[in-house]
Amino acid sequence: MKKIVAWKPLPDDVLAYLQQHAEVVQVDPTQHDAFVAALKEADGGIGSSVKITPAMLEGASRLKALSTISVGFDQFDVDDLTRRGIVLAHTPDVLTESTADTVFALILASARRVVELADWVKAGEWKESIGPSHFGVDVQGKTLGIVGLGRIGGAVARRAALGFNMTVLYTNRSPNPQAEQAYGARRVELSELLATADFVCLQVPLTPQTRHMIGAAELQAMKRSAILINASRGATVNEQALIEALRDGTIHGAGLDVFETEPLPADSPLLGMANVVALPHIGSATHETRHAMARNAAENLVAALDGTLSNNIVNREVLRK
Ligand code: NAP
Repeated sequence: MKKIVAWKPLPDDVLAYLQQHAEVVQVDPTQHDAFVAALKEADGGIGSSVKITPAMLEGASRLKALSTISVGFDQFDVDDLTRRGIVLAHTPDVLTESTADTVFALILASARRVVELADWVKAGEWKESIGPSHFGVDVQGKTLGIVGLGRIGGAVARRAALGFNMTVLYTNRSPNPQAEQAYGARRVELSELLATADFVCLQVPLTPQTRHMIGAAELQAMKRSAILINASRGATVNEQALIEALRDGTIHGAGLDVFETEPLPADSPLLGMANVVALPHIGSATHETRHAMARNAAENLVAALDGTLSNNIVNREVLRK
């Protein structure tokens, strides 16, 4: 029987499904040596949120497929997996809408100061009718700049254009005609997007090209009234430069679901800033979506081990080897 290593707890029904097809060994990824030893014995692996380095795969000669319970695959060295003949599968689509909801929650919370003012009420500070010092800024009718308008960016654009009457600008390496037609999205250079958007929303994957793509110069190029929203990966933004821009008033605020170091260290200056909404990487974190992702990843893995997987493949080249 085939052997699968799981480095993330799985819902009972998903575990049962995998067990119909293979022996499943559950490991605690913080026990590094035991994890690596289990990979050496395995045909497949499933999990998320843990960096899988080439060194961890040395001697894992049986391994044929890895399945990440995420759409992002920046935890893997894809070229190295391809060289080893290991298929990498991921879970696009099932998480698109719930992640777009998180992005919109960040937009609304940042603009309308929802978290800050809710905390203020709970602290017993609401003693008279509020005045301009508690006002936020409008979302509806404003300009949203999406850096990386793919699946999730498209779902954000739909909410913005159809629900909030916003103008949508975007940057991508290639055009997205569907979003242009359906939501009036206009593809512009990053410099134009930064200079015009009221909300700059990052939804690119983390790659060598997108690492720190928003740094001091890009923050300086944004409007002083603009709000940065990041639900992609923390390292797409130079966090130190962001902290300085928020402190100096270079930009108005930020709504962040992701950080360069997660969990966000307790001494991060971001935690003390009233103009920052910080979430614990909840993009796809609803019961329904996380279950659908686990199920999808398990099905991807079983199909990959059977040689029948035809979609959700990150490194399609491996199949041609
Ligand atoms: P996707 O459909 O592949 O969209 C990514 C978009 O980024 C594409 O439109 C792509 O267009 C663009 N892009 C890629 N490289 C670029 C570059 N160098 N410069 C400019 N644009 C670039 O992916 P998705 O499903 O929307 O997911 C996007 C990312 O969101 C994931 O990779 C993941 O890291 C993150 N995510 C986070 C959470 C969370 O919990 N916060 C949840 C889900 C996903 P071109 O190829 O034309 O450039």
